[in-house]
Order: sequence, then structure tokens, then C-alpha cells
Amino acid sequence: MAAQHRSLPTFFLAAAIFSLGWASSASAEERTFGLRVFVADVEGEPVVDQAWIDERIQWANRIFEPAELTFTQQVREDLADEHTDMVSRADRHALGPLIEGQRIHVFVVRSLADVDIEGNFIRGVHWRSRRGGPGPGGGQRHFVILSSIAGPTVLAHELGHFFGNPHSPTPGNIMSYSRGNGPPFFDAQQLRRIGRHQERFVRTEELVVVGD
Ligand SMILES: [Zn+2]
Repeated sequence: MAAQHRSLPTFFLAAAIFSLGWASSASAEERTFGLRVFVADVEGEPVVDQAWIDERIQWANRIFEPAELTFTQQVREDLADEHTDMVSRADRHALGPLIEGQRIHVFVVRSLADVDIEGNFIRGVHWRSRRGGPGPGGGQRHFVILSSIAGPTVLAHELGHFFGNPHSPTPGNIMSYSRGNGPPFFDAQQLRRIGRHQERFVRTEELVVVGD
């Protein structure tokens, strides 16, 4: 009997969460952009699993919610062995020719060296490639590289760069290196900047809105 008594509130809670999610995704203003995710593997084993990727996309969606942007993985592909470890700037530029289609490219590699401090490793980077010619929309190809050591909010931070934001000195801001007390956030100025960038990406056909 006890189990039956518990099942009712659980059902209502699940229904409430479902309808909240539905209501926010049905917002007239909200836009979804597709991600093309490449994952490096070592001897046939991907350096991260799908749950790792999903968790980072969920964090990005939570943090970008005030910008009325969401992201969804549309394609997942294996990354060729030559790109497993990013040591030099040339290694990063070598990803440029892989950019195609009106999606945001995310490359998950085993390790990502700091090209400024030898022996240091970083968790992620937003990179503009000199290789591969103009990208979709005619601009310079740019994309996100995540290391397999990247924490849950690193994708959101790099997407913040993708949509035009520099680093922030405010602790707790998603574009800051210092954590705050609450969940990471974008401030009003950053949200406006993201809005302008996404408008431009759509106008120049660098990105296409999923479902349009
Ligand atoms: Zn950064």
C-alpha cells in the first residue's frame, strides 16, 4: 500500500516537470541550433560517452535559457585519430576543413594543450581556424573544442564565446574563471550580445534554426 500512496505525488511531479519543459520549448521566441559533435576515440573506445555529452548540452541549455536559445545534438561522428590530442595551434587549425553545414561544431578530444603555457592543459576553447576557407555564411570558420577533462559547464562557456562574449571579471558569471555561490549565468549585456550574434548567424546563413 505504501508504494501506491507514494506513486500519486510522483506522477504529478513528473507531469509538472514535463509541462514546464513543454511550455518553455513552445515559447514563440525560442530558437534551437543544431550541434555536430565529433568525438575522438582511443583503440575504438570514445574518450567520452553520450551521457557525458548530454550532461554538457543540458547545462548549456539551462544557462542559455534567458537568451531563449537551446542546443540539440543533430549529428555525432567519430573524430579521426590524427586529432585525438591537440598539442599545437596547427592541430586546432586542422579541424577547420571539417566544418560543413549550418550547425555549431563541437570537437571532443582526449587532451587539449595550452598553447601559451607549455605543459599546461585546458578544458575547452573557442577557436577560429585559418584553414578551410570561409565557413558557412562566408565568415571565418569557428568552433568549440572540448577536452575529455572538461567539467559540465565548459561547453556553455565556450558557446558563450561562440556567441561573441569575452571573459567576465564577475565571479559566478559563466564567462568568468571564478565560481560564485549560485549556478553560472549571463548578465543582461551578454544576453543582448548573444541575441545580436545569433541574429547575424541566421541572417548570413552560418546557422539555421532547427525546425524552420
Ligand atoms: Zn574562455
